[in-house]
This record gives sequence, structure tokens and C-alpha cells, in this order.
Amino acid sequence: MADYEIPETREFPIIPSVVEGAMAHSKPFVAGAEFQTDMGFPVAEEVGELNEGWKENFLDLLKDKLGKYRSLQVFMDTCVKCGACTDKCHYFIGTGDAKNMPVARQDLLRKVYRRYFTPAGKFFPKLVGAVDLTEDVVKEMYSYYHQCSECRRCAVFCPFGIDTAEVTMAARDILAQIGMGQKYSNQIIPKVHKIGNNLGLPEPALVDTLEGLEEEVEEDIGVKVRYPLDEKGAEILLVTPSADFFAEPHIDGLIGYGKVFHATGVTWTLSSTASEAANFGLFIGNYEHMRKISLRIRDAAKELGVKRIIFGECGHAWRVAYNHLNTLAGPWDFLDQNYPIPQHILEYTKDALDRNLLNIDKSENDHMTLTFHDSCNVARASRIGEDVGSQFTIPREVIKAVCNNYHDMSADTTHDQTFCCGGGGGLLTDDLMELRIKGAQPRMEALTNVSKDHGVTHMAAICAICKSQFSKVLPYYGMTMDQIVSVHQLVSNAIILEGQGEENEDEDEAA
Ligand code: SF4
Ligand code: SF4
Repeated sequence: MADYEIPETREFPIIPSVVEGAMAHSKPFVAGAEFQTDMGFPVAEEVGELNEGWKENFLDLLKDKLGKYRSLQVFMDTCVKCGACTDKCHYFIGTGDAKNMPVARQDLLRKVYRRYFTPAGKFFPKLVGAVDLTEDVVKEMYSYYHQCSECRRCAVFCPFGIDTAEVTMAARDILAQIGMGQKYSNQIIPKVHKIGNNLGLPEPALVDTLEGLEEEVEEDIGVKVRYPLDEKGAEILLVTPSADFFAEPHIDGLIGYGKVFHATGVTWTLSSTASEAANFGLFIGNYEHMRKISLRIRDAAKELGVKRIIFGECGHAWRVAYNHLNTLAGPWDFLDQNYPIPQHILEYTKDALDRNLLNIDKSENDHMTLTFHDSCNVARASRIGEDVGSQFTIPREVIKAVCNNYHDMSADTTHDQTFCCGGGGGLLTDDLMELRIKGAQPRMEALTNVSKDHGVTHMAAICAICKSQFSKVLPYYGMTMDQIVSVHQLVSNAIILEGQGEENEDEDEAA
């Protein structure tokens, strides 16, 4: 493990003392020419530097966004500096850097907005905290708008509902469009457009992986559970994060989805062209890319002739799907209108549990005591199910239906007050490891405390980014990477399929 200063975890949260500029050095790699070009963004003559005319372009882009998105204009004008959001961001709590206070993060753009778009800022800039747009200001934006995971926690506490995530998205898009895109996201999105998923996993590799998975499951439980790809005429298209195809604990979740579909007797398929639920268009604040990525799902659904679309465990993918799939890629009039469009895998599993379609042995999870990490994109930016707050109840009800031992973390770190894992919003890259470790502090603190108080051994999540982030940061906080599990991994452990174990019983009898 790399040598970073790890924030302490305490019995009660303590607001850190401010350390000016503590994270001023933190920034992700800037996208080079090949990645900017692939995205259709302008290329800087030198990576990380600004081309001639950048200032006019920046202000034109900001003007365009203020006209298009009324929310951004309202957010720029409304803040009264009440301070309610200042200590709510996990990146401020973990780093102490004042510029990681949400209001300060917004102000990086607001100060420029005031200078060029308000009469007071034009004539009396100092009086209203307006600043000139300079190269230093842009570089500071690049750094601190990549220290926000667009998690919306600050918006829950703001009396005006100012959403820093939207400000971050606007700023990142402007930066990319003046030649300062982020390498990590700009490298990944073209792979989705060209190959179908973030990993660049081509169809033959996907076929191999799924065949291998079928063999593994059959060997394990003695039942042939199918993990089909590109099967025309299947009822359900499952769109799931590509991490589900290979990484632990994600793949255990995929095994679980397959078992649930098997037990409920429905036909389903994955698609090789839409083999990715993630939509990094959200992270870079670019609706065109978000739309293009979403349209793959529409094309795949039509091509395969499915009737329903279900999303696997991925937080931001569900945020895009729940909020935008209809407007970005609809109408979905060719799907069965009797089901939610789209539907979350947890809604499907919960319904199957409620209708007693799943044979469950909870004791299969007795070696664990669970808690649940509400993923910010599901908790604060979407919903699962029809009722207000059902994004909080459904995952917990499913976990409790398949596990005997469960305890929640403290209330000010769960439900709509949940903390981001520290790696969301396009920050899950090794070049931001220090930020990711420090940003995970509030969640690690709550997990440590529930472990001490209630013997919790494992934390379940329904987001691919949360799972990857926790696998990486748990060891820095004295825990082990396998303490993070998929919710459908728990379902998979507990579900008993028809014919399961019969082979073993036969062998025992023969012996
Ligand atoms: S959206 Fe989340 S990461 Fe961004 S400033 Fe607000 S609390 Fe921090
Ligand atoms: S809580 Fe809202 S109004 Fe108050 S300082 Fe933060 S962003 Fe501004």
C-alpha cells in the first residue's frame, strides 16, 4: 500500500480544523490529444495548458449553460453564505481543505459568474467577491471540481437546495470544452461507444467469461444456471456494470441475478453492444455523451426484441436511468408497459421474495453480520420502487430477507444523509488515490463504530464504484478488502434452487 496520511476514525464525528491548501496539489491527469479527440473536444497545444482564445470560449460556454439550465442560474444567484453546507462534504471532513467546503467549491465558478454576468460584479467586483477569469483560476477549478463526487449530500442541508453536483458538472464540461478534459473519464467513454463497455471487453471475451461463469456455478451448486448473451426474444434485457463480469465482489452479484432469474423462470439476456450500465457522461457533465451512451441500450433492446429492461447494481447508472433514460432515449413504447421502465434488479428480487418465489436459507449468511452502505446516487438522486423513501427500505428488506444478522450504521451517515464512498463522480482513478482515501473517512468511521458496537463484519452495497472503492480503501483503515459485498451476493448465498445439492446427496448415498 502506498504511504498516505490516513485520517483518524473516532467514536463521534469531529469537524476538522481548516488546513488552507491541504489538497491544492490534488488533480487528475489531464486528457491528452487522443482522448480529447475521441470525445470530440478541442485539443490543447500542450497538455494541461490553455489555447489562445480560451477565455472567450469559457465565458461563451458559461453563458450558454446559464441560458439552457435555469437551475445553474438559480444556484449562481441564490447562495446566502449561511454556512449550513460547510461541514457536510466528505472531502472537507477527510482533508480539512477549506476549498472542499461545498460553498467554496461553488464559489470558484460563482465568482467568475459575478464578474462577467452581474452588474455589481462588472462595476464593483471586490464588493461582491467577483474575480477575473485567469489561468490560475481555471487551474484551481480543474483541481477542486475534481474533488467533488457529485454526491449531493451538501444539497440535503442547503436551505435553498443548491446542488453543488450540478455546478461541478457544468464546470467540468466547460473545462473539457476548452481543452482541459479529465483523462480517466475521457479514456473510458470512447470504449463504451466503440466496444460496448468501460473495460473495452470485446464480445468473444464476454462469451468466454459468461460460459466460464455457468460452469463455475454448476460445479458449485449442481444446477445449470444460464448467463445468456445476445439471446433474441428473451423477456428481459439486463444492463449491468462491466465490473460485474470479472471483479470481486461484483461478479458474485451477477451470479445472484442469474439465480434469481432462474428461480423465477423468466427468460433474460445480456447484450454485447450494451454490456455496460455505467454512463460516465454524467460525470463529465455532458448530456450529448450521456444520450449517446443511453441510446446503445435502446438499440440493443429493439434488436433483441425484449419486453423489459432491468439494471444491475450500479449507483450512477441507475441515477441516469431513473432520471433520464426516457428523455435521453425514449419513448419506450415497444416495451411492456406493465412494468417500470427501467426497473432496478432489487425491485425484481424484492417482488420475487414477496411472492414467495425464492427458496431462501438465511443461515447460509450466518458467518457474516451485515450493514448497508446507501450509495449516494441511489439515496439522493433517484429512487427504487414506487414509494417515497423506498430506495432505503427495499435494499434493507432484501438483505434482512436473506441474512439473520443486520445492523444499520449511525443515522447521520445513512439514508439521505449517507456519505459518498469517496470514489464516485469520475474520481475512481489511481491518480486521485490520496483524495479517495481521505474522502472515505466518514464512511470508514461509521463502519468502524458499528463493527465495534454490534460486531458488524461486512458492508453490503449496490454500486459498482462503491464496491471497487471500498475494496481498495478498506485496508488503509485496518480492515480487509473482502469486507465489502454485493447485495445480490447475499441473495446468491441464501437462495436454494430446485435440484441444488442433489448431486452431492446422491454421492453421499452411494458412499
Ligand atoms: S456534491 Fe458531494 S462531493 Fe460535491 S461538494 Fe457536495 S457533498 Fe461534496
Ligand atoms: S447551505 Fe446553501 S445557501 Fe448556505 S452557504 Fe451552503 S450553498 Fe450557500
